[in-house]
Amino acid sequence: MKIIASTNGRTGIFAAMDVLRRGGSAIDAVEAGIRLVEDNPEDHTVGYSGLPNLLGEVELDASIMDGRTRAAGAVGAIKGFPYAISVARRVMEELPHCFLVGEGAARFGREMGCEERELLTPEARDIWRQLLEAKVPEVYAGRMRYLEKIRQYARVTADPERPNETVNFIAMDAAGNLCCGVSTSGWAWKYPGRLGDSPVIGAGNYADNRYGAAACTGRGEMAIRAGTARAMVLYLGMGMTLDEAGPAVMRDLYQLEDEYFGRVSMIAMDAKGGHRAFSLAPDATYLHFGAAMAAPEELPRVYVAGPA
Ligand code: ASP
Repeated sequence: MKIIASTNGRTGIFAAMDVLRRGGSAIDAVEAGIRLVEDNPEDHTVGYSGLPNLLGEVELDASIMDGRTRAAGAVGAIKGFPYAISVARRVMEELPHCFLVGEGAARFGREMGCEERELLTPEARDIWRQLLEAKVPEVYAGRMRYLEKIRQYARVTADPERPNETVNFIAMDAAGNLCCGVSTSGWAWKYPGRLGDSPVIGAGNYADNRYGAAACTGRGEMAIRAGTARAMVLYLGMGMTLDEAGPAVMRDLYQLEDEYFGRVSMIAMDAKGGHRAFSLAPDATYLHFGAAMAAPEELPRVYVAGPA
């Protein structure tokens, strides 16, 4: 039994491990862990208090994948539901579909009785407003159409120092089943309706008990275009080790022509519970929590440098 997570998963990783220790499934553990991160008002990258889109509306993306069956559920650009991961899980379990977006996702969340809440906090709104006022005041004042400056915004908000992140959890339960979950408020100041990689199965999330699981954070457009999480699991399935597959998958991202090139990071676990994490940025870390450990350890991610 073990869990790996992005570093901001610290808020939920103890609860997730408790679920596994009590005999719960990897799916229950991933959902429990991510819900606490979604609920954390200090994390402006996920769930409640996430940073909003260009119009000041918080739109959440989340997905969950069961490695035992390869069933998956995802929601994109859903508004008003703090626990997007739970709505995604219900999509996986209750519907003949695996991906709902926008109004349809919210309608479904309501029908399932999922908790609704105003997601925009005063603090997140201030961060949103201050950047717009400072960098593109004519848009903030309503004197210019959004589209005219979208490329300029994108450059401002694609800065990897800006708070655009995501939470990743991968759990392996006592039965050896894998589950992978991802939740995010996405790229802050994004164009309304924009989806990143997080809810896209194969891009930001993939799990298959036979080979392993992978989840991404960072510039989602790149992970979508490269099919990053699926590529990682496919390479593991073709017999590569984590240390062979991870750098190969990450190096492929450098081959994308991308005006807004940004950091992408990935955590991965193989079918035996081996784990690694990778990043296009140096000095990144991730969490690992084994069942026999008193607390999670923070480990370095393998830095995959670009071509010289
Ligand atoms: N991957 C997320 C997205 O593109 C954001 C992030 O992790 O920074 O929506």
